[in-house]
Amino acid sequence: MKKTAHWICHTHVFRSDEYECSNCGETVAKPKKTCPNCGCTMRGSKGDLGWVDEMEAIDAFFED
Ligand SMILES: [Zn+2]
Repeated sequence: MKKTAHWICHTHVFRSDEYECSNCGETVAKPKKTCPNCGCTMRGSKGDLGWVDEMEAIDAFFED
């Protein structure tokens, strides 16, 4: 049985978006069908793309 995971979208204000593997935390510039690090099959649900993550990223930026 194959493992599955999904990409967590991290939107950055001044750089390109990144996608983080929900299983291993690997980040890639573009989402792929499988994670290059852990080999999980990705379910490409755009509903998982997180505006919450985006807000956290902006908060972190201004605190820095
Ligand atoms: Zn992974």
